[in-house]
Amino acid sequence: MAELEGLEFGKSDFVLLDEVNMEQFMENLKLRFEKARIYTFIGEVVVSVNPYKQMDIYGKEAIDAYRGRELYENPPHLYAVADAAYKAMKRRAKDTCIVISGESGAGKTEASKYIMQYIAAITNPSQRAEVESVKNVLLKSNCVLEAFGNAKTNRNDNSSRFGKYMDINFNFNGDPTGGHINNYLLEKVRTSNNDRSSHRAVLSALQVIGFSKEEIDSIYRILGTILILGNLQFETDSESVQVVGSEAVSHIAGLTTTEPDNVTKSLLYRTVATGGGEVIEKGHTEKEACFGRDAFAKALYERLFCWIVARINAVIEVKDYNPVLHGKNTVIGVLDIYGFEIFDNNSFEQFCINYCNEKLQQLFIELILRQEQDEYQREGITWRHIDYFNNQIIVDLVEQPHKGIISVLDEACLTVGKVTDTICLESMDAKLGQHPHYTSRKLTPSDKTMEFHRDFRIRHYAGDVTYSVEGFLDKNKDPLFQDFKRLMYNSSNPVLKEMWPDGQLSITEVTKRPLTAATLFKNSIVALVDKLGCKEPYYVRCIKPNEMKSPVLFDDARCQHQVAYLGLLENVRVRRAGFAYRQPYARFLQRYKMTCEYTWPNHLMETDREAVEAIVTQHGFQDDVAYGHTKLFVRTPRSLFTLEQERAALI
Ligand code: ADP
Ligand code: MG
Repeated sequence: MAELEGLEFGKSDFVLLDEVNMEQFMENLKLRFEKARIYTFIGEVVVSVNPYKQMDIYGKEAIDAYRGRELYENPPHLYAVADAAYKAMKRRAKDTCIVISGESGAGKTEASKYIMQYIAAITNPSQRAEVESVKNVLLKSNCVLEAFGNAKTNRNDNSSRFGKYMDINFNFNGDPTGGHINNYLLEKVRTSNNDRSSHRAVLSALQVIGFSKEEIDSIYRILGTILILGNLQFETDSESVQVVGSEAVSHIAGLTTTEPDNVTKSLLYRTVATGGGEVIEKGHTEKEACFGRDAFAKALYERLFCWIVARINAVIEVKDYNPVLHGKNTVIGVLDIYGFEIFDNNSFEQFCINYCNEKLQQLFIELILRQEQDEYQREGITWRHIDYFNNQIIVDLVEQPHKGIISVLDEACLTVGKVTDTICLESMDAKLGQHPHYTSRKLTPSDKTMEFHRDFRIRHYAGDVTYSVEGFLDKNKDPLFQDFKRLMYNSSNPVLKEMWPDGQLSITEVTKRPLTAATLFKNSIVALVDKLGCKEPYYVRCIKPNEMKSPVLFDDARCQHQVAYLGLLENVRVRRAGFAYRQPYARFLQRYKMTCEYTWPNHLMETDREAVEAIVTQHGFQDDVAYGHTKLFVRTPRSLFTLEQERAALI
């Protein structure tokens, strides 16, 4: 039994707060950060504060201390969660997942690495080579995806990738056999890209993963093309729009192995089908040309990224798996995803991310509460109503067919003719004005400061967020002209061609109702939630203590903001409402029978349940438990600490 920590380090579980309020929560969080206790539980959830310094808590000794132990036996740690997820997977053949959320820089990716390292360390050494290679590719792919996905990251310029989901597959022995990565992209960046040293790291990672020389060459050619597009300018002379300078075009043609004339044409013209089925070429205005160029650069980047992910997946996918021969294949999923985002100016990206968080909260509520409720019912324990907020109403506000915000947006995007962001906002107001979680300034005429109305507000489960509607329509449309897709499909570079299969469609075959960004996003989040929904979830919530990357600064306001938007207080309330711990009578007895004279070495009672009652009563926490048909339920972990301490003293 690891040493239990004294209260000078604060409470190791927020469930143990005297009262659940922001003040007490923050006080405890700050105290623990100052005492270098960066992890704190909320039941089985780990709250982590980025220490911004190397911590000596991840070594082999720590791994051994957590291995195979119960959650409450050790101080809070990522390893405790990793072990719980692994144990559930191995002992009960359950698929599990670990959801890691927090804002950019809060420590999510580091956490996912420590979790993977822990899992790698505790798996079977006899299969080390196999395990090592899967682990190696997963860790290396992290490096590649980080480099490509976070082309630019600071708070003003949101990074392109806001989420990553990784499945690690295990065989019946509990050893990793493969994996699969899904990436969630939003803003497609204009690449500025890497410094030299990270460039070298990426190159070596690509080689380790198994990218061929030609493939790596193609990757750099595409990145080169994106850079050139970023500097490419247009000018309008007397009659037409031209590309400034001739080198850019020939450079792009060289890098993408396409004809310079075709490059010029794609940049300056678009093919359109007329009503009569005639196909004509229409010259761009300078503004349209710029728009097309930027869309092309973003699409190149996005397709490259997705292609890299697909290649990595091909390398790590489980091969030759036969359920009859190999037994049940189980999975631990690791989700590394942005939490609620609220900036001074919130746009389409924040709308999407926050919608995603509503979905995850809905999942949390469903899984935790419904599972709890079901189990209590099964065990014959009276369910006490928990006062929590069910956010389904907000999820509906965003995603409901025909009525929700996404549907209104899509309708506006598909309407022929000039629809502006403001007009779109008006139709949102008309449809949603009565919704209790939607407001728009125009609907509150008392607000005389607003001349135009350009924003709407959603009352999210974690608080109110005001979104500026500016740019919503453009960001929601698929802006890429078919001409660019065809240009890439006709490249003689097979790697490029492979990335653009839709380039073979002629303009008359191109669908008139392409899926919008918001709908694609919604579909991917629904699929993600489905994937998570059939797994047993574990949670890590990451907090960034300050903007300075300082190991000593705890910015109260910034932290409180994150605690609010991660919904941590709600989290504590839900956890406290239920039972923190439960165990079948026989298992409980096995572990604690030595702490009670009536049960040691064997009890003489009719049932295990009675024997357990004897232990509980002897230690005086009968008010903290409920007796189910097969299991003992304990409300707070404190009672377990007492038992554990006594047990430790005896062995
Ligand atoms: P996120 O993925 O949430 O954007 P990262 O995991 O990349 O954030 O963390 C940002 C930086 O913070 C890391 O590069 C590292 O310097 C520091 N950091 C995060 N977690 C830890 C940790 N557990 N120990 C030490 N430093 C950390
Ligand atoms: Mg990250």
